[in-house]
Amino acid sequence: MPTSTARVPKRNKRELEKFRRLLELKKVELSSELAKARSAEEESNEESTQDIADKAVSSYTREFLYSLTDGERTVLLQIDEALTRIDDGAYGFCLNCGTTLSDKRLTAVPWTPYCVDCQELSEKGLLEG
Ligand SMILES: [Zn+2]
Repeated sequence: MPTSTARVPKRNKRELEKFRRLLELKKVELSSELAKARSAEEESNEESTQDIADKAVSSYTREFLYSLTDGERTVLLQIDEALTRIDDGAYGFCLNCGTTLSDKRLTAVPWTPYCVDCQELSEKGLLEG
């Protein structure tokens, strides 16, 4: 836990509520994207039994939608985790090194679990767990 390594000023309630709003807005946005993608998929399924050409288009669309929603699912998960951290009072710290995340970073990517350095490590696959 970050509190054991450094004495950091707690974010005030108003700041936390600001980030909570950002997170919830993004969540709504992504959820409606997912719902749209799902209904598009259902429509293409209904029409795809007609002939082979339709089927090909449908499977291409399905693959595209799948990869799209996969990435969005990850962000949705991170948003839920960030909202949990707000409730726990653990929001705004890097999950790896415990450093305080800057307001600039949190405003740009409110659901991020890591500081810039650790994010880089994570993207290179160098971060454990
Ligand atoms: Zn870090």
